[in-house]
Amino acid sequence: MSPFFLRRPSLTIDPFLLSILVCPQCRGPLTLSEAPPGLACHACSLLFPVKDDIPVMLVEEALPVTEGRP
Ligand SMILES: [Zn+2]
Repeated sequence: MSPFFLRRPSLTIDPFLLSILVCPQCRGPLTLSEAPPGLACHACSLLFPVKDDIPVMLVEEALPVTEGRP
């Protein structure tokens, strides 16, 4: 099996930057999310959007994450 296309990540975050970023609300680790693009905190169920490759680490700007959707 050969892939028809090479998937290019729509979101690029420096791995070092990602490793030092924490959730501003709970100081927990963040997970890179591609759809929707952003950095997700599963403890808070928040998604921090990334604008121009810069993560917006503001609780006011965060979007609610809906997990386990029907
Ligand atoms: Zn959090």
